[in-house]
Amino acid sequence: MGAPGSGKGTQAEFLVGQFGMLHISTGEMLRDAIDRRTDLGELVKPYMKNGHLVPDHHVISLVEDRLSQSDIEAGFILDGFPRTLHQVFAMDGLMQGQGLTLDGVIVIDVSEETVVERASGRRVDPETTKVYNLNIKGERPPAHILNRLEKRDDDSEEIIRQRMASYHQETDPAVEEYARRGHLIRIDGSALPDTVFEELCRRLESVEQGS
Ligand code: AMP
Repeated sequence: MGAPGSGKGTQAEFLVGQFGMLHISTGEMLRDAIDRRTDLGELVKPYMKNGHLVPDHHVISLVEDRLSQSDIEAGFILDGFPRTLHQVFAMDGLMQGQGLTLDGVIVIDVSEETVVERASGRRVDPETTKVYNLNIKGERPPAHILNRLEKRDDDSEEIIRQRMASYHQETDPAVEEYARRGHLIRIDGSALPDTVFEELCRRLESVEQGS
């Protein structure tokens, strides 16, 4: 969990590289539905374009479908889900139904100013879907792919501020719920991605050891 531009996707990719788990990103699945012009894609497009959360039932059925596939057995990280209290309870039900257990919930904290600065530099490579950032050392794209990179529609400053407002209004209560249950691993996401990842790994070790 984390605000837009907090580095959720980047840290999830690092975790996949290190531990080989599956990366399930609801944002990525929704963008894919839009690109493929599916019925779901057409339905969710206006919400995403304007920086609003997609209604719970659409995202929940997407996750439910994804979790019904057998490749999740080796473990997975959900990136960008749950994002509302309703989604937290739906996830409880999905996990219970499949006998899955939750190891932890990672929350990446960053300030609004950092989020706005990062989002303005974020670019996606349409050929590989890899995400780069012109404003972050260590995440800059190689020069030869610069002219094919694209900016996400929802990365403009106005939309980012709307997404931050949604985050506080709808996702803060979901974060609080996990804090109340003692599942939360809260990390500072303002440092460079590698440094954040080192801290994350340190924190995950203590989860594995059950402390
Ligand atoms: P992300 O790639 O995680 O930043 O998500 C991009 C956008 O997809 C969000 O701003 C929402 O509009 C939508 N989205 C992704 N995940 C969810 C979710 N769990 N609940 C509602 N909307 C979502």
